[in-house]
Amino acid sequence: MSRDYYIAGNWKMHKTRAEAVDLATKLVAELADGSHKYLIAPSFTSLEAVALIVKGTRIRLGAQNCASEEQGAHTGEVSVLQLKDVGVQTIILGHSERRHIYKEDDALINKKLLLALKHGFEIILCVGELLEERESGKAEAVCERQIVEGLKGVPAADLDRIVIAYEPVWAIGTGKTATPEDADAIHAYIRNLIGKLYGNEAAKKIIIQYGGSVKPENAAELMAKENIDGALVGGAALKAESFVAIAKFKAS
Ligand code: PEP
Repeated sequence: MSRDYYIAGNWKMHKTRAEAVDLATKLVAELADGSHKYLIAPSFTSLEAVALIVKGTRIRLGAQNCASEEQGAHTGEVSVLQLKDVGVQTIILGHSERRHIYKEDDALINKKLLLALKHGFEIILCVGELLEERESGKAEAVCERQIVEGLKGVPAADLDRIVIAYEPVWAIGTGKTATPEDADAIHAYIRNLIGKLYGNEAAKKIIIQYGGSVKPENAAELMAKENIDGALVGGAALKAESFVAIAKFKAS
């Protein structure tokens, strides 16, 4: 495959600073000889400490969200300027927990994405359908809407800083994984959509991660599929042993 595999760990609202430092230190050591692209996204409170550990290694530093405004009277929010200041390189946007628990809509996610791009970040844009949407045959339409709206106003020149993560909501943290065939079908649909929006070259290059109960046992099988270029990992990213096993999967 011409695209690099990209394995990202989303630590969600887990780990104290000391725990985050401990995990990041283990990952840096274990993945020094890894051959894929890696990212970890700790909580805001651990970013600065983890930045010192991953600096100069092959592990990128990610944030799990950002504010839609640059700065100002936005109590409780964290701005792209602050994230840049502590060394964040990538921002995860549109995670299903942001969409469904915190009611972020496509317009808000698009506003954040444009702001993050303006400040030079790489973005992982998460998309995915609810169980009832899948069961009523709307999975593709939901992903299409989230991508078209999420990328509104993004010029082709910035597409190399966009990664898409397909995360069916019913598979996140539930232990249920989409079959490799089902996941690959949606990934192919997304790649084709990127082709329609940005042309064939962009479609060939874009990294599309799969997320939803990725574990050491299913990682290789998922990533063997033509259109699955990596993983966004939640639960299994919280332990060095399981994340490293996923991160070092053998490509077939
Ligand atoms: C996620 O948080 O993006 C995720 C996919 O979680 P999990 O791996 O636990 O399903």
